[in-house]
Amino acid sequence: MKDKMHFNSKTIHGGQEPDKAYGAVMPPIYQTSTYAQTTPGGHKGFEYSRTHNPTRQALERSLASIEAGEFAFAFGSGLAAMDAVLKLLKPGDEVVSTDDLYGGSYRLFTKIFEDFGIRFHFVNMSNVDNVEAAINKNTRMVWVETPTNPMMNVIDIKAVSVLCKSNDVLLAVDNTFASPYIQQPLNLGADIVMHSATKYLAGHSDVILGSLVTNDKSLAERLGFIQNASGAVPGPMDSFLTLRGIKTLHVRMQRHCENAAEIAHYLKTHPKIEKVYWPGFEDHPNHHIAKAQMSDFGGMLSFITKGANYESSIQIVEKLKLFTLAESLGGVESLAGHPASMTHASIPKEIREQSGVVDALIRLSVGIEDVRDLIADLDQAIG
Ligand SMILES: *Cc1c(COP(=O)(O)O)cnc(C)c1O
Repeated sequence: MKDKMHFNSKTIHGGQEPDKAYGAVMPPIYQTSTYAQTTPGGHKGFEYSRTHNPTRQALERSLASIEAGEFAFAFGSGLAAMDAVLKLLKPGDEVVSTDDLYGGSYRLFTKIFEDFGIRFHFVNMSNVDNVEAAINKNTRMVWVETPTNPMMNVIDIKAVSVLCKSNDVLLAVDNTFASPYIQQPLNLGADIVMHSATKYLAGHSDVILGSLVTNDKSLAERLGFIQNASGAVPGPMDSFLTLRGIKTLHVRMQRHCENAAEIAHYLKTHPKIEKVYWPGFEDHPNHHIAKAQMSDFGGMLSFITKGANYESSIQIVEKLKLFTLAESLGGVESLAGHPASMTHASIPKEIREQSGVVDALIRLSVGIEDVRDLIADLDQAIG
């Protein structure tokens, strides 16, 4: 019965049952490192909390349910989850990735894993032909992030998955921006879906956590092994907070999407705005793909003000009062960011500008406040 639930019920009930000890409806925060054994090996399924913890396990069952997957693994951060995926590879292996990747992902690829002999190719994946052209006999994995950060490019997950299957290449999708409310990559042919649960899943800007979900048993075995062997696991408190966040994911996402749509249209007709990047516009280059693989267009958008430069864009974000100037996204409160000096500062200027992350770009994570207040705030800041 629970497997057949709709998404809006899975967020609350998926993989959940009252706690075995006292029937607690929310799993207790099992703040323990170890578990008593009656005889060596005589335990109740839990030996040591790096390997398994009941609170983390409740979260992992929820994560699997909402991503339409069978196996889920929680990590201490989104990047720790990515790190575990990359550890599936060996020196000499190659990865094809998007060219406007989240800055921290780009840093992990190029500053850590390149030194271990893994090669990365960064291509514009809005056109799937570019992915095909970058695949060679050493390619083991394609890493997709869609919509992309902060340019809101949309990548056709199904088309990339067909390409990956015919080349025997793993497809991993960073689903952080969309959230499973909007997009479910495993159903579109991905092998692994990754989240920075720090963002929409936890949803309240109070926790750092990452996740992986897969339907492939042998991949799950290897990822579970890496999770335990490398040990980048989240604590029970953070697992609890994320599980609590997921229970309202669907209602939060609905409002995030509504508010972002309204702000996107407001900005598009604003005389001082040059360009708005939001996949819901019909003139967005991959709008038809967004419509096909996403059930809504998300809470993220970016824009450029006419004649703006590095300094004037910083002035706009500094003037915002209700939008907090901060890194991150996906929380209930609205945030504004200046990618060139913040999230994307670690990417060389020439490289980031090639993919459109210019000095004048401002990114918004639209929260779930009253949209009239958000628009009034943008109005006074843009002037
Ligand atoms: C934040 C983010 C990450 C990294 O996640 P952390 O939880 O900060 O480690 C990866 N991908 C995307 C798209 C993100 O927004």
